[in-house]
Amino acid sequence: MKVPFLDLSLQHQALRTEALAALAATYDATRFCLGKDVEDFEKAFSSTLGYPRALGLNSGTSPLHVAAVLGEFGRGDEVIAPPFTFISTVWGISYVGATPVFVDVDAATFNLDPAKIEAAITPRTKGIVAVHLFGQPAQMDEILAIAKKHGLFVIEDCAQAVGARYKGTPVGLLGDAGTFSFYPTKNLGGCGEGGALVSKNDALFENAKLLRVHGSGRRYYHDHVGFNFRMDGFQGALLNVKLPHLGKWTARRQAIAKRYREGITLADTILPVTVPWGESVYHQFTIRHPRREALREHLAKHEIGTDLIYPVPLHRQQCYAGLGYAEGSMPVAEKACATCVSLPIFPELTEAQVEHVITTVNAF
Ligand SMILES: *Cc1c(COP(=O)(O)O)cnc(C)c1O
Repeated sequence: MKVPFLDLSLQHQALRTEALAALAATYDATRFCLGKDVEDFEKAFSSTLGYPRALGLNSGTSPLHVAAVLGEFGRGDEVIAPPFTFISTVWGISYVGATPVFVDVDAATFNLDPAKIEAAITPRTKGIVAVHLFGQPAQMDEILAIAKKHGLFVIEDCAQAVGARYKGTPVGLLGDAGTFSFYPTKNLGGCGEGGALVSKNDALFENAKLLRVHGSGRRYYHDHVGFNFRMDGFQGALLNVKLPHLGKWTARRQAIAKRYREGITLADTILPVTVPWGESVYHQFTIRHPRREALREHLAKHEIGTDLIYPVPLHRQQCYAGLGYAEGSMPVAEKACATCVSLPIFPELTEAQVEHVITTVNAF
């Protein structure tokens, strides 16, 4: 039985008629950049997930860039971030000329370890980018307490955690700004690039809105140096078709994760943990095993797709070699990169496929 790591075609074929009709309406109305479809999506996204408002953008990296501007990070400033995440988490820091300062992750959750943050704070520290990795909410109370004590601006990278809550609060509303990605492989994926920014702070949100379109509130008057980060009308239209299904898709991911957690009994395997402060939305189901290469080969032989997310921690990436982090400087993240393997988890997996993954893992 074939179990692909991810198959986007099933979801898109199921929604094909509705999606193409929505795209045709946008096409006929020539609503190509922002416009009604994007506004409708921003409203639906906010009301469905519990945000006061949301700003649609052209990728998940753009809101991280905007948030770094909102935090007034700049040359000479340091911003704390985890090394076990996708590179975009820290691009915004670098784009504005600030320096990412890596703090190792917690061995159980893969998220920033609050106990290690204060040791990394210097007089130049300006902010923290916390990631809710694989859909699991980070320890925000502890992170926010440290941020408050040191006057730091907190960005939440929610790219993998759409729909997740921390102690009942939707992720992205705990810090100063929250960012989302609608890249096709994300839990809520567009047909192309997309992203969003949320903030509980009205003034910051209004600033982000100006930055999105050339720093301009009034056409041809530019109060700030801005960006062109507009969301396409087509993405807004398509995301409006998909959003009503997100709750059901998330529940299915959580059900698959529960089954994996109960069913996988392979010795020496570390399964994702559940935490008392919120439920993961399982963007990934990433296990750790000391012989992960052999395990991957074994699964591939039985037609089960896997992925390495992530093989190299950010502090060991070539682009950050100049920061001078030695091998061994972030031992938890490095060990995670060396032992992790992500199993198939997407809403359209069948029960039989899920059972096939479990029995094949256990037979290793
Ligand atoms: C996907 C992702 C982003 C944003 O990526 P884009 O490809 O620009 O949409 C940011 N952070 C994390 C952790 C991600 O997984």
